[in-house]
Formats: sequence, structure tokens, C-alpha cells
Amino acid sequence: MTISKEQLAQVDVQIKRLIAADNFYGRKLKEIGVDGVSSVEDFEKLPFSQKQDLRDAYPLGLAAVPDEEIVRIHSSSGTTGVPVIIPYTKKDVEDWAIMFARCYEFAGITKQDRIHITPGYGLWTAGIGFQAGCERLGAMAIPLGPGNTDKQLQMMTDLGSTVLCATSSYALLLAEEIEKRGIKDKIKLKKGVIGSERWGEKMRTRIRTELGIELYDIYGLTEIYGPGIGINCKYDTGMHIWDDYLYLEIIDPETGKNVPDGEWGEIVLTTLVKEGAPLIRYRTHDISRIIPGECPCGSKFPRIDVIAGRSDDMMKIKGVNVFPKQIEEVLASFPELSSEYQIHISHLEGRDTMRIYVETNGTVDFADMAKRVAERVKSRIGFTPLVKVVELGVLPRSEKKSKRVFDERYD
Ligand code: ZN
Repeated sequence: MTISKEQLAQVDVQIKRLIAADNFYGRKLKEIGVDGVSSVEDFEKLPFSQKQDLRDAYPLGLAAVPDEEIVRIHSSSGTTGVPVIIPYTKKDVEDWAIMFARCYEFAGITKQDRIHITPGYGLWTAGIGFQAGCERLGAMAIPLGPGNTDKQLQMMTDLGSTVLCATSSYALLLAEEIEKRGIKDKIKLKKGVIGSERWGEKMRTRIRTELGIELYDIYGLTEIYGPGIGINCKYDTGMHIWDDYLYLEIIDPETGKNVPDGEWGEIVLTTLVKEGAPLIRYRTHDISRIIPGECPCGSKFPRIDVIAGRSDDMMKIKGVNVFPKQIEEVLASFPELSSEYQIHISHLEGRDTMRIYVETNGTVDFADMAKRVAERVKSRIGFTPLVKVVELGVLPRSEKKSKRVFDERYD
């Protein structure tokens, strides 16, 4: 994918606005001598922005408009240190609602639907984004927020909610409660819109079958509006990203260069029309890939794959970028294996080697099992690992998150 003329012109306007506003980011661009872009080459030379830059601008250093034009702020759920504050203008808030309403439409949700919203409201962008999109669409918002399962289920049955908006873990919790209370016949849910969490195929299948609903993955991050900047359509071939509001790149996290369509890398986003806090080439650290070709739905909006993890987890082996999630998914497709595994990467005789240790229950032929795992891994990532099958319980377990990837090349 290359940046279009129109997108380039929009980025140029964004840069000039930032510099004129003389805000934190505008000064940064000015310092390095950037005053606009007129070609693809110019664009590719633009520096990336990072979460740390946004933290440095705390509290309102990102604002690119005068105070009276800011109508709201959101803050990212900073786990450590200084939070990031994103100011929004009236137009930003509207644009976000337009994008979110489009997400609902792509999921086949209409005015007739009753949308049960469980993500939190407040500084976080979640709940209010789901709600604004719902109102824009004209559906009925049922704004529960998180927690209080009794009330959730009462409202869900009495009001006949047809769409559930939730994190994957909360959707699963509700599914289990519904099952436990034997009230499944009173539930009218048809669809689930599930936001921003890494979740595996096993969890997805459980939610889908236990609640009997279609699932849609919604993408977004507070720094760039919030959830609602992309969603999968009913053909479920990846998430369409609204590239009339954002320019999407996938880069090699090590080199910073764009990777060819279809290859995995880090999602980088540039806002095209944002007023309150425009961001240029913002590194999300989310790993995905552009899905080449056209979606059967006919939409021209580009598609990205399910988020495969964070760029910090990436391994580069034989020149190929590999993520633990890809291996995990392959292993999860074998019911004979436990969920424990270890990946060791070493450099032997001038070559990178990947060894994968997996556990089985002992009823299978180890050599045959190893061969089948190696073949499936090869078809997923492009090269053959050495697979060692061990007895159940051999691999170490710990209460906390176990270390599973060992890169021994630089020891
Ligand atoms: Zn589609």
C-alpha cells in the first residue's frame, strides 16, 4: 500500500497546522526541519512518534487548537508513569462517532438493534465510543458499563439486548453466568462486538458457541480516537481500517521500513483530519499485517489481520519476523498437546535455528507428533523448526506468566 495523493495532501495540512499551532509536536517537527510533505519520499522520511513523546507533552502539550475549541479529553490507561492526555475538538468527537457507526454497520447492526454496552465510561475511550456510535447509527444504547452481573443479565433479558459490546474476558464471564443460571432461552443476543484485547481462537469459539452469536473484532487505541477505527465485516477476512480518516502502515519494528503487503510487522497510524491532537506516524506497537487483495464484501477499505501481539515480543529468525502468538496458534490446533511450550532460538554453524518444546499426554507417537507440528509451523511462518515432544509436566510451570521464548543467539 502506498499513500495516495489525497492522503499526502491531508498529511501536509496536518503538519502545517501542527507547526502553526507551535504545540509540543509542531516544535519537534520544526526542530528537525520538516515543514510539509509533497511526495511519498518526503512522507517516508517523517520521524515516527512514540508513546513517550505523548507522555512528555503531559498534560495538554499535544493540543493543536486553542483551548476554547477543545470539548473533551481522554486519557490512556497508563499502567506505569505519566498518563497520556488526548484533547478532542467537536469535529474529532463527531468523526469518531461516524467511524464507530460505520463499524456497527459493517457488522450488520441497524437501528432496530439494542446495544448492550459493558466497557467502562470515564477517562478511558471505551464506553463513550460505543455509545456515541450507537446513537449516531440510531440504535438503542443500553449503557451498563462494567460489573454488576445481576443487573447486566436482568437488563439483557428484560430489554432484549441484541448486541453485546464487551472485552473478550467479560463476554466469556457473562456467557458462563448465562449458562449457570439456565437463562439462555431468555437471551436475545445475535452479535458481539469485542474490543481491544489479545484473544485466542479457543476463547473466541467458546464465546461464539456458548452465546450463539456472531463475533466482530473492533480495533482502536486512545491515542488515535479510541476503539472504532476498524472492524471485520461478515466475511471475517480481517479488520477493515477507515483509511479516509487514517493512513495505515506496517513497518519492520527493527528497521522502521515499510514491509510488503501480507507481511507481519508493527501498525503505524497517521491521522488525516484530526484537529485536537493530530499524530504523524504513530507507532502502536501492535503487530499485524495488511491482508492483500479484495474482501468479498467489495469494500475498498484496507484490511489488517487479528492483532498478533506486541512488537516487543517479535523474534527475527532467518530474516523472517516471527511472533510467539503465531506459534501458539499452531500448537493450539493440536488437541494432543498441552498449552505449555518453549521456544529456543540459537545460532548454529552460521544458521539461525528454532527449537520448539511441546508437551503431550504420552498416548501419541512422539516422532510422528514432532513431524506434524514442524510441518504445520512451516506452513504458518515459512521455515521448519526442530520440534521436541516431551511428557506432560516436564516443562516448568509458574504462577506468574512463564517465560516461553529463549533467544540464545546473543548470550
Ligand atoms: Zn469486508
